Amino acid sequence: MLKGRVAVVTGSTSGIGLAIARALAEQGADVVLNGFGDSAAIESIRRDIADAFGVRVEWDGADVSRPEEAAGLIRTAQDGFGSCDILVNNAGIQHTAPIEEFPAERWDAIIALNLSQAFHTVRAAIPTMYKNGWGRIVNVASIHGRVASINKAAYVSAKHGLVGLTKVVALEAAGRGVTCNAICPGWVLTPLIQKQVEIRAAEKKLTADEAMVDLLAEKQPSKQFVTPEQIGGLAAFLCSPAADQITGQELGIDGGWSAQ
Ligand code: NAD
Repeated sequence: MLKGRVAVVTGSTSGIGLAIARALAEQGADVVLNGFGDSAAIESIRRDIADAFGVRVEWDGADVSRPEEAAGLIRTAQDGFGSCDILVNNAGIQHTAPIEEFPAERWDAIIALNLSQAFHTVRAAIPTMYKNGWGRIVNVASIHGRVASINKAAYVSAKHGLVGLTKVVALEAAGRGVTCNAICPGWVLTPLIQKQVEIRAAEKKLTADEAMVDLLAEKQPSKQFVTPEQIGGLAAFLCSPAADQITGQELGIDGGWSAQ
């Protein structure tokens, strides 16, 4: 389905981004991986995807919270692979604290990565998508792009902003073969959430398993985690011909969280 397309997935050395990269590679796309981590582990991920799906896979360690590195990541794909047809803005971080205790530098870091990243990558990638008459932009937002929770001022603000940016880009690109959508997951058990489980376990004096159940029960009616693979499947669907007319949407994948 995606043979001959080039996908750039930010934050794809772990968690949701890695599953999206795998799902796109499974459909035949060449992939530029991005993110931090141990270089031997990243090389093993790179080789594993290339071997499993017979596609070209490269890694670029750009810090996409920095405007020039975010734009540089797109240039890497265009120069190295000849294109950036699919752009997935996934890299994100979290910090939780009541607003009066929220460190200003954490606010700045979260806005830079979880929101401004997408402005800089889309700005760099979309002219070539227009020229080619085809492009797919998938922004990994969150249920927190649709509703709020306490202690997440920066994250909720950034993700709401990302949903807004998604709609603007969708309107500007409408009719030009380029779609832009946001995926809004509920709880997914990745390193990002593991940290919140640990904080909850410590605060409420629970075991790790009890803290997970407690976390799910509070917000996610299915009481089951969304899996990274399910999000990969949704991202691949958004790149399929069936999704040609799906644009400007905030697609929930949240076990019913947003239905309440
Ligand atoms: P994760 O911590 O497992 O992965 C984050 C990835 O981003 C890693 O590859 C990391 O190396 C990379 N990264 C971090 N800072 C970076 C930077 N400055 N430049 C480039 N790469 C960077 O997190 P995850 O849970 O897989 O989250 C991925 C996305 O999904 C995030 O945007 C997050 O907000 C969103 N999300 C996660 C959940 C969840 O429950 N896990 C729910 C909703 C939305």
